[in-house]
Amino acid sequence: MIFFYQIRTLTHQVTPCPDLTCPLCGSRGGVEIGIYQKYAWMLMPMWPEHKFGMAACTRCDHSIPNLKWTDELEQRYYQLKEETRTPLSLWRGILINPLLLLTFAGLIGGLVFLLAGKNKHQQAEDKILLAKYIAAPKPGDLYRTMVYITGPNPGFNYTYFRYAGISGDTLFVEKLKKEVSTYGDWDKLDTTRPDAFDSKKIPLKYTVFEKNQDFMVFGDDTMRFFFKGIDRGEESISKN
Ligand SMILES: [Zn+2]
Repeated sequence: MIFFYQIRTLTHQVTPCPDLTCPLCGSRGGVEIGIYQKYAWMLMPMWPEHKFGMAACTRCDHSIPNLKWTDELEQRYYQLKEETRTPLSLWRGILINPLLLLTFAGLIGGLVFLLAGKNKHQQAEDKILLAKYIAAPKPGDLYRTMVYITGPNPGFNYTYFRYAGISGDTLFVEKLKKEVSTYGDWDKLDTTRPDAFDSKKIPLKYTVFEKNQDFMVFGDDTMRFFFKGIDRGEESISKN
């Protein structure tokens, strides 16, 4: 992880020194010395760096460059600098920021954990619901189906099986004529048109469907269809 921090400047104090002579205009009474300090800042002051001074004259309204400082000005500067203590608050971030980072990391971790738990919980609930719907099928139940496509470009299409009755261990379904090639696009399929479904009834092994929540088609198509969920009325439950 990379941390970015800024260097900021704290103004400790600006002290008037009326007894000093300005090296620029030669008059007295206008010289001021400011003591400043650099510090690292990241959300808050992290640690102090060096102190430095700037001098100015209010008589001629110029700042006095270091090179022009007289001995007495320089001496006064060192004295003022010496008297200026680095406030402890400039060290604040060293202590607090790691705590902030830890708190932040903790929050993210907790959130991920909660979401994962919720997701798992949801999956378990869906499985129970699917079992319930499979155990008691209703006319109008639509089974989300993944179809394996053979040929030169093998892949999967997505469509619906519609519940069409049970006889012994055989569950009959009718296949929707249309298919889509994008996973999750079941909503785009129109299942309401009268001739939307194939009239041919496909026999599935009901005990396998109940036990494994998957299709097993009698005959040649055994490995072609995969169960992906149930739509009943407004509800739709996905198989995970
Ligand atoms: Zn001056």
